[in-house]
Amino acid sequence: MLINYQGGSTALRKIVDAFNVYTKGTPQIEYHQLEYEGSKVHFCRIRPDDNTVVTLDYAGDVPKILTEIRNQWFIDRGYRPVVQLSGAYFDNHPGAATYGRPVGALLHNWSTAWEKHKGYDCLPTAGHGYPTVYSDGFSLRWIDGWESDFHSLLGKMSFARGVGQSLTINGRVDCSVGEENGRYNQDECVAMMGIAQDGDWIFAINTVKGLNHLCRAYLMQSIGAVTSFDLDGGGSTHLWIDDSLISNQKEGDSNMSNSSLVNYTLLSPNHSGLRKFPISRITIHHMAGNLSVEQCGQLFQNRAKQGSSNYGIGTDGRVGLYVEEKNRAWTSASYDNDNRAVTIEVANDEIGGIWHVSDTALEKCIQLCVDICRRNGMKQLAYTGDTSGSLTMHCWFANTACPGPYLKSKFPYIAQEVTRRLNVDTPAPTPTQPAVYKVQIGAFSKKENADALAAKAKAAGFTAIVKEEK
Ligand SMILES: [Zn+2]
Repeated sequence: MLINYQGGSTALRKIVDAFNVYTKGTPQIEYHQLEYEGSKVHFCRIRPDDNTVVTLDYAGDVPKILTEIRNQWFIDRGYRPVVQLSGAYFDNHPGAATYGRPVGALLHNWSTAWEKHKGYDCLPTAGHGYPTVYSDGFSLRWIDGWESDFHSLLGKMSFARGVGQSLTINGRVDCSVGEENGRYNQDECVAMMGIAQDGDWIFAINTVKGLNHLCRAYLMQSIGAVTSFDLDGGGSTHLWIDDSLISNQKEGDSNMSNSSLVNYTLLSPNHSGLRKFPISRITIHHMAGNLSVEQCGQLFQNRAKQGSSNYGIGTDGRVGLYVEEKNRAWTSASYDNDNRAVTIEVANDEIGGIWHVSDTALEKCIQLCVDICRRNGMKQLAYTGDTSGSLTMHCWFANTACPGPYLKSKFPYIAQEVTRRLNVDTPAPTPTQPAVYKVQIGAFSKKENADALAAKAKAAGFTAIVKEEK
């Protein structure tokens, strides 16, 4: 699948370099797409391993379309290309003099090497062709002997840098490093590259114009890129993903739903963007207070508190949505748990003591769990008393009394009841057809009376039918 912002092969622009991922094994690659601030974003996360490498491949003096910029050296050695991202297009670009000439580099230690290598320090030597892999301040070209150095050198390379300005640095939105090349405002689509906390590479493009530099920075932050930057944009904005990987597509990140039980929504800025793992757990917390869903939502607006949950339930049984289900909330002080769990904060109607929860809130919590399980393909909710089950509690991950004695005592019952309802209740039919509104002007027990009215309607110019219903 080749994704290009203008779509179709006619939009293909020839470019001079591409970031290419090759593998000899089964790569761990997730493909996502989502809507972001009115733009459409495609991105993939790639888990580096011993059999997977990323290179910056340079087409040389003659630009090529993205999928032609392949690294024969790797292919000859049993690697296959799996992902390609358009890099930069400068040496041969008519605007090179205006926009500058930096292309890209793979850097051993990006954070310290940035200042040294930014910009033109990373230029490949025009005409030397490919494969070209860049590392700390020097470039490796395909020469005799290169192979022997290859593994030791490539093993040190963890990051790539391209032409553009920084988007995020060390987890924060930071556009202060590098040079804005002037034309990648919201009028262009742009390729972006980043690295996640766990070392995953993130390749992204937007395919609908409208994201300015800062928007792209927030985008990259929200999809988990702790350090990221712009690559080239405009017509050379391409992302290619091997067709065989498309089955790894995350099921509709943009379609992933939230509960229809929600009464109140106030989205919190406190979350890590898209989940790293599919939803497979629910974690029920108590608020340690009797907050309404509005008050709880206000609390999660506070960035300094660094707390949030996907849902909240008030003592009155109303449901608040604070972090969309597709995103990882900051609730349980656990990367692993919160990336897997939908988290729910439930209000207490008793402060202290056993931290009681109202029956109304408990019942709504069960309903919400049933709904979450159903929409996320969880066939049951299992309480095992440890993290092997799908119902988890905060105190297993942090030094806290949450969810309090009362809710804790209810966990086996909640899990059992949710599972029972999942198996007993037939899911509400999903309307697939729009509703049809019929106009009826009469209903009669005697057919002749119905026929008489139908005749009257026809005489008045309407089409009428007589339909028997029992
Ligand atoms: Zn908690």
